Amino acid sequence: MKRVSRIHERVKAQRRDFAHRESRKIVDRFDLIGVEALNIKGVASGMLAKSVNDAAWAFFLFCLTYKAANAGRRVVEVDPRGTSQECPDCGAVKAKTLSERRHQCSCGPIDLDRDYASALVIEARALAVAGASDLRRNGPLARCVCNAPSPSGETGSSAVATQ
Ligand SMILES: [Zn+2]
Repeated sequence: MKRVSRIHERVKAQRRDFAHRESRKIVDRFDLIGVEALNIKGVASGMLAKSVNDAAWAFFLFCLTYKAANAGRRVVEVDPRGTSQECPDCGAVKAKTLSERRHQCSCGPIDLDRDYASALVIEARALAVAGASDLRRNGPLARCVCNAPSPSGETGSSAVATQ
């Protein structure tokens, strides 16, 4: 039992270390960071695995938010509803099961990694909340889609940031 608790402690420490490191990287790179608002009701009523996951996400958001505040960056929480179902290009709802990993829509036609498509939706919502449409005019946006494979090879929890 003691050994199990030691392993738990180590995993917890690794998670914390990861959250500190990855949130630092994001804050160093981006001025505006859009994240899905945590569903507090889900935390309270969820299963254990979900609660653990949500606690890790909450801690990551905590790190991200205070580091951003210290660095003069902005973290914007957006409504998480439907971010994985909405087309980032035309706004149509494309219902998917969790196993469907691609977002496809006839508007483009578009064929994107599901997580990347969600990130684009989160980004658009964050820009709308921040009233930061001027950021788009200042050049292309640098995107970090944590959790999804990205060109820079960055990993982490779901977050979108615009530079
Ligand atoms: Zn579309």
